[in-house]
Amino acid sequence: MVASWVLGFDEGNGSDRDLLGGKGANLAEMTRLGLPVPPGFTVTTEACRAFLASNNTFPDGLWEQVLEGMQQIERRMDREFGGRDNPLLVSVRSGAKFSMPGMMDTILNLGLNDESVEGLAASTDARFAWDCYRRLIQMYAKVVLNVDSDHFEDALDAMKRRDGVTLDYELPAGSLRDLVAEFKQIVERDAGQPFPTDPYDQLRGALTAVFSSWNNRRAIAYRNQSRIPHDLGTAVNVQSMVFGNLGADSATGVAFTRNPSTGETGIFGEFLVNAQGEDVVAGVRTPLPMAEMATLPEFTQAYAEFNEIAARLEQHYRDMQDVEFTIQNGRLFMLQTRNGKRTGQAAVNVAVDMVGEGLISEIEAVQRVEPAQLDQLLHPMIDPAYSPDVLAVGLPASPGAATGAIVYDADEAKRRGDDGERVILVRIETSPEDFHGMVSAQAVLTARGGMTSHAAVVARGMGKPCVVGCGALEIDYSSGTIQIDGRTLNKGDFITIDGASGRVMHGEVPTIEPNVGGSVATLLGWADQHRRLGVRANADTPNDAMNAREFGAEGIGLCRTEHMFFEGDRILAMREMILASTVRERRAALDKLLPIQQSDFAGIFRAMDGLPVTIRTLDPPLHEFLPHTEQEMNALATELGTSLDAIRNKVDALHEANPMLGHRGCRLGISYPEITEMQARAIFQAAVECSKDGITVIPEIMIPLVADVKELERQRAVVERVAQEVIGESGQQVAYSIGTMIELPRAALTADKIAEHAEFFSFGTNDLTQTTFGLSRDDAGRFLPFYVEEGILERDPFVTLDESGVGQLIEIASERGRSTRPDIKLGICGEHGGDPDSVAFCDRISLDYVSCSPFRVPIARLAAAQAALGATERDK
Ligand code: PEP
Ligand code: MG
Repeated sequence: MVASWVLGFDEGNGSDRDLLGGKGANLAEMTRLGLPVPPGFTVTTEACRAFLASNNTFPDGLWEQVLEGMQQIERRMDREFGGRDNPLLVSVRSGAKFSMPGMMDTILNLGLNDESVEGLAASTDARFAWDCYRRLIQMYAKVVLNVDSDHFEDALDAMKRRDGVTLDYELPAGSLRDLVAEFKQIVERDAGQPFPTDPYDQLRGALTAVFSSWNNRRAIAYRNQSRIPHDLGTAVNVQSMVFGNLGADSATGVAFTRNPSTGETGIFGEFLVNAQGEDVVAGVRTPLPMAEMATLPEFTQAYAEFNEIAARLEQHYRDMQDVEFTIQNGRLFMLQTRNGKRTGQAAVNVAVDMVGEGLISEIEAVQRVEPAQLDQLLHPMIDPAYSPDVLAVGLPASPGAATGAIVYDADEAKRRGDDGERVILVRIETSPEDFHGMVSAQAVLTARGGMTSHAAVVARGMGKPCVVGCGALEIDYSSGTIQIDGRTLNKGDFITIDGASGRVMHGEVPTIEPNVGGSVATLLGWADQHRRLGVRANADTPNDAMNAREFGAEGIGLCRTEHMFFEGDRILAMREMILASTVRERRAALDKLLPIQQSDFAGIFRAMDGLPVTIRTLDPPLHEFLPHTEQEMNALATELGTSLDAIRNKVDALHEANPMLGHRGCRLGISYPEITEMQARAIFQAAVECSKDGITVIPEIMIPLVADVKELERQRAVVERVAQEVIGESGQQVAYSIGTMIELPRAALTADKIAEHAEFFSFGTNDLTQTTFGLSRDDAGRFLPFYVEEGILERDPFVTLDESGVGQLIEIASERGRSTRPDIKLGICGEHGGDPDSVAFCDRISLDYVSCSPFRVPIARLAAAQAALGATERDK
């Protein structure tokens, strides 16, 4: 039996997107609903796959079925394909399961030749008929015969010059007829074969080309980018043409059933009178808003019908629809419907509104909103209606759009920023030195660094737009210039960066402020009822902690204590401690740090009353904290009452070839237990102080970068000794726990041993990724994007957890940890804790919580709920 390769719109199953593609399924569904869809049929994805698998030949029976399909259309329309009088014309459009806008081919007006064009001219209008014909030749030649479009455009331009007109539609019928003759010559010359006059040859060629376009370069690149499988194939829809350009009672348009930017209810869209779809896209004429259709008598009936259909489609699909329609001589035809793309704001508002309207359930609302879209709700975004001048693209480190003048120096950024000027701090890379400048700038842009580099982590923590690793920038601090692909920017020039896409744009680009009102809280409230994973925040200051709580964090999963020393004079005391040569010197510096730490911890405990706070002991890669410039060294020399040379010698002595693998993490506390001791004292004294005030304090002390259980044992002993001292003396009850980060492969592999001394593990997946791949966090930005572009790595492993490698270590560590301590608490605090796919992985392997920067807490809450509710296939 011959397979069924072709299904009429009235035969297809509207939910079978696998077989019919998205467009075909929706056309079938609209037909089944009795809506006015021009008749047609879908050639299935199965046919496409069979075609591609057999070296681009039609499978047995396909062509015969296409011919039958054409006969059906002819009968329904009472017209003949290629006929002399009132001919039938068809469109041939690609339509894969997932929408791939503009990536594959489409041909319109098939069926025209020298005879049928006369028929069309007689039944419509000569100018229109010849214009359709010349468009067909041009499109067919390009798509099927690979003729360069420029030749046709040149001929068209020459014809306009000859006639003294500027716009295509000003050319009269006679000129278009001449153009058709010329176009045919171009085809014959460039393709080595004539333009086919037999309409069935045209149809065969078009089907072949559309099938083949599944594997054109841009389609492959798009699928790589959107992670659409390459073996799906595309369906092809063959449909009777209807025309929106037959006079004042014809029109074409595109509309959404709600506002796709805000989610507001009501039809939102545009139409053009006497026009074809292409005219809308070309932007030559300005379309009218849909509401105006009601005021034009020619369209009163069509408009009323359209409104009814739109409401019906929403009810039917239970989602906002994006529809295309044409009105031919007052008669409405529906050409397409699909779930509409929308901004984050619209996504949340539509989902919540539809629950209120009884259209969907709370669970469906939670499943429908893409977690990453919540980013847009917390930050301004680039106005999608504007086409910016993009200078370069870097890594999208922290979302939000911001405009400002280029400033290279952190002090200047602070000064000008605090004076109310909008500045963007542009650096080759940043260090803690630049922190104050980052705070006062609108945004941060760096030429180097990956997604977990200093600038990225710090900016994300602040919720500040940031683009890193933008290798195209050649920054010259001395001349105050930046070279980008042959263009020069100067200090003070305005740029705009988009931390959500990584784009760096010239000048000021309009942005849209988020505005969601209470919907997001409603949605997240529903999400919280369904998630299993806890969601905590990475927060280093009382202020961050308060922010985190507002975003719904259920505790702090990581307080990086070294980050407390970025601000003001604190860095001096920190440097003094790092550079100390003797225990006495170090203790002197630590004595200065103790009260600062204690008061910060107290602030955090108060903000997190009743919730756990994981405080990590010091983990500063030394290079981040050493003074670099002479000015910085001088300041330190003055503070310590020593010479510049002495400081310089110490800095040289501490220089490490590979600081990320150097004297950092617990290694520092092992070498200098007095550091850990001071920190433990600050934690427990703050805990006691807060407890006395009635605050419920739940400190969890976390030892970083442990490779061997003995390191943990030693550090644990220090912390316990101080705890007993401080808590014992106070007479307060403070329940605390001690655990470790798992951020080295050796720790993961020996987790059973480590768990004997750890009440919890927190996976530091930034370092674990770095050490598993042997890939520097700070340098990866230079080449990793290329790896992803080339498909060597599917995703940046610093953004989305590498499940097969790093993930395996996490699973091993969880299993082994639980084998010796079944109730061990397991969490993740690397940047992956705020990435939806990584959150889903954490749910799957039954971690207890994820922890991420405060601004990503809402994303993690939603992602955790979706993970618990199971996968749904969101309309891509
Ligand atoms: C980590 O390594 O994942 C982590 C959270 O620690 P940091 O980023 O501070 O090294
Ligand atoms: Mg780490």
